[in-house]
Amino acid sequence: MSNTPSFAELGLRPELLRAVDEAGYTTPTPIQVQAIPPILEGRDVMGGAQTGTGKTAGFALPILQKLLPNANTSPSPARHPVRALILTPTRELAIQVEESMRTYGKYTGLRSTVVFGGVDIKQQLPIVRGGVEILVATPGRLLDHIEQKSVYLGQVEIFVLDEADRMLDMGFIPDIKRIMALLPLAAKRQNLLFSATFSNEIKKLADQLLNAPQLIEVARRNTAAETVSQCVYKVQADQKRALLKHIVTSRNLWQVLCFVRTKHGASRLARQLEKEGLKTTAIHGDKSQAARLEALDAFKAASVQIMVATDVAARGLDIDDLPLVVNYEMPYVPEDYIHRIGRTGRAGQEGEAISLCAPDEEKLLAEIEGLLKRSLRVATPETLAPAPAPRSSRDAHSARSPRRDARRDTGAGRPREDRHAEIDRNPDQPRVVRTDAPHSSRKAQPVAALLMKRSAREPAKV
Ligand code: AMP
Repeated sequence: MSNTPSFAELGLRPELLRAVDEAGYTTPTPIQVQAIPPILEGRDVMGGAQTGTGKTAGFALPILQKLLPNANTSPSPARHPVRALILTPTRELAIQVEESMRTYGKYTGLRSTVVFGGVDIKQQLPIVRGGVEILVATPGRLLDHIEQKSVYLGQVEIFVLDEADRMLDMGFIPDIKRIMALLPLAAKRQNLLFSATFSNEIKKLADQLLNAPQLIEVARRNTAAETVSQCVYKVQADQKRALLKHIVTSRNLWQVLCFVRTKHGASRLARQLEKEGLKTTAIHGDKSQAARLEALDAFKAASVQIMVATDVAARGLDIDDLPLVVNYEMPYVPEDYIHRIGRTGRAGQEGEAISLCAPDEEKLLAEIEGLLKRSLRVATPETLAPAPAPRSSRDAHSARSPRRDARRDTGAGRPREDRHAEIDRNPDQPRVVRTDAPHSSRKAQPVAALLMKRSAREPAKV
């Protein structure tokens, strides 16, 4: 018999238990077991957890319960001030968090909405002005609303920073500090910070934000990813497309998520695969919000075989039962490998991750293996079908002389900050040029290690 407590035993009220039951959840996940009770008690929480662990319900359920007494049907906006503010680094994650809030909160009578950049702010104004208790936002667009006076943060009781490490990587920290300065005093609000990794910069931010937090941590993805079978094919860059096609068609796979490093690379590969007869879509930062959602919907409905994505665009995507993740290009940042393969093998499902590594990406592979503390199994493409005969004059050209992308320097030997310049960015992300180490989580430490260091001093407050 399992020792895991039930949702009811975690102290959740019937309105929430009913919604959780309807969502089909039978048992709380480890992060939910750890996070729900302290959040219900009103404690600040610092959580080491990634998307895919059930983290969202871990904070959404107790937040909804704490706000329940404020639910009312008054048409007056004044009766619906923002009481919970959740900041996320990407619009996709923001949308998903708010969807979760609505799913879990459907019997609470609380109002929620989401605001993010890349769409006309005018569409968002009537909803936020009408009043919502729960606001999910990306930082840049939230500041726009504050400027337009459509959002007032003076009554926020609970503040959540989700995926804080990504916020840092994407240059959002100055925006977050500006937002924090507009919240009620730290002592008067409850603060929750979630991050997959904890660098010194995240710790500094946590010190400013959190008041004697409860530290919780669930297995990091690089240990939890044991449900994902991982292998790497060592191939020439110009063989990759044929190998990908072979893998997908020989196994008749649908919903394969395929990662590349740049948005241009994503569009190009999607176009090429489509030309070769594979139902393909792409999701990246240059696409309009509507196009991204359309691509995601088609992918979720399994009406496409392959979705080509960049790391930023795929961040936080919640897609269930994904059979295969392909690293068509090895990521520049080794932690992104962990995030990528986290899209498969979720919630205990079996998953598979295949990496296609060209000779000039070996260094990137070595960095990943260093992070994983083990070597990836090397698969051989002996079943690889010969590259298809070129169909168009453009492809004929590519058959004679490899396209620029195949020959291009992968950047493995360049400083990381240079490599970052090419990576897809969230369109509503501030244009901050980072001159320090671009991926803070190089120095990441588990929460347990932090606990020892932090207990010695009282965190500063904002
Ligand atoms: P998250 O980490 O919040 O993105 O959640 C990942 C996925 O797990 C989502 O599809 C949730 O709907 C699902 N999920 C969250 N909690 C549970 C649970 N207790 N049981 C089963 N699935 C869950």
